[in-house]
Amino acid sequence: MEKKDIRAYTYEQLQEEMKGIGEKAFRGKQIYEWLHVRLADSFDEMTNLSKALREKLEAQYVILPVEPAARQESKLDGTNKFLFRLWDGNMVESVLMRYKHGNSVCISSQVGCRMGCRFCASTIGGLERNLSPSEMLGQIYQIQKMIGERVSNVVIMGTGEPLDNYENFLTFIRLLTDEHGLHISQRNITVSTCGIVPRMYDLAKEKLQITLALSLHGSTQEKRKQLMPVANKYDLREVLEACDNYFHETGRRITFEYSMVHGVNDTEEDARELTVLLKHRNCHLNLIPVNPIKERDFERPDRKNALNFKNKLEKSGINVTIRREMGSDIDGACGQLRRSYQG
Ligand code: SAH
Repeated sequence: MEKKDIRAYTYEQLQEEMKGIGEKAFRGKQIYEWLHVRLADSFDEMTNLSKALREKLEAQYVILPVEPAARQESKLDGTNKFLFRLWDGNMVESVLMRYKHGNSVCISSQVGCRMGCRFCASTIGGLERNLSPSEMLGQIYQIQKMIGERVSNVVIMGTGEPLDNYENFLTFIRLLTDEHGLHISQRNITVSTCGIVPRMYDLAKEKLQITLALSLHGSTQEKRKQLMPVANKYDLREVLEACDNYFHETGRRITFEYSMVHGVNDTEEDARELTVLLKHRNCHLNLIPVNPIKERDFERPDRKNALNFKNKLEKSGINVTIRREMGSDIDGACGQLRRSYQG
């Protein structure tokens, strides 16, 4: 019999599950607390359960391991990058950023990625597999344990396309925000997508208060297609409609991410077109000077050009920032995460 992933049950489901194996429902509550508040990695730690019950759990369930394998710290800004080993030997990376307002963790949602964005290291080698909800949680839990401080913000912007792993992603959000667990505020969570339109509509229906970030990267359908293969499937107009719908359903302002690639999407004309696209939208624009990866020769605009670009948009009343680059000396910045550390 295959063991069941016990960290993927919701609070209610776990109580039902315990009844199903002949235990009292409140055992489910106790186990939930061990898993999601005390962040236990093994049944042995659950000392308020009898040895017999712990053995029974051990025989039928598994707490999927997310085992710390390496850690690097940026000398520039104190950002930490973690490498974790999963049950099947696959590896994923996560990043911890320390801000004045709290600790923010960027997690991976898949091993690899099949979206193929031209400037991103995470997609080189394609998709290996989806992460389970419990493996997504595990990244945050391990980091919280290692630093001995609370994680208050979570961004799903590491390796993988979260909406390409939709059901697991949604379960993960439910568990992460559950008041019986880590209870992270929905408003402190941001999910970034390259624009899987049908799933954006599904997510809007959930009426969560999480922030949706859309990887735009081009102000026309043609430009976007050059950088993002997914644009062949969903065109820019459809993607923007899905963004408008998300805002309409949830009241949450969309964040548009725009990785600036020198000579490709950072010209004056790009700024003009981008203005037209965003001027009448209640949104936030986050410019990300592209982070270099060794397989591609994309270059970032120099600081002055990036500021000019930003100023142009700002003048039209668009709410725009340049993303503070963090952890670039440890390949921990956007688009630099991989399945293993490069030596
Ligand atoms: N799959 C999701 C989340 C992953 S990446 C998505 O596509 O949104 C988070 C952000 O970093 C995305 O906007 C992504 O396009 C961007 N990004 C990827 N590679 C980058 C690079 N080399 N430099 C700057 N940003 C990059």
